[in-house]
Amino acid sequence: MIELNEQNIDCPYCGETISVLIDRQEAGGQYIEDCQVCCRPIVFQVSEDVLNNLIVTVYCEDDVV
Ligand SMILES: [Zn+2]
Repeated sequence: MIELNEQNIDCPYCGETISVLIDRQEAGGQYIEDCQVCCRPIVFQVSEDVLNNLIVTVYCEDDVV
């Protein structure tokens, strides 16, 4: 079953808050999606905490080695 979770994140480039749908199956992974506002590539890192809550962290593409 695919479960999508809506999360609000702040764009690391323009600072706008955008809502994204996170697929729980992405947990432990990383992917890139363009900002809906400034169209620059945001790196999303998805993880789960001990309570199975999804945690989404965003980075500038430049911050990822
Ligand atoms: Zn942006």
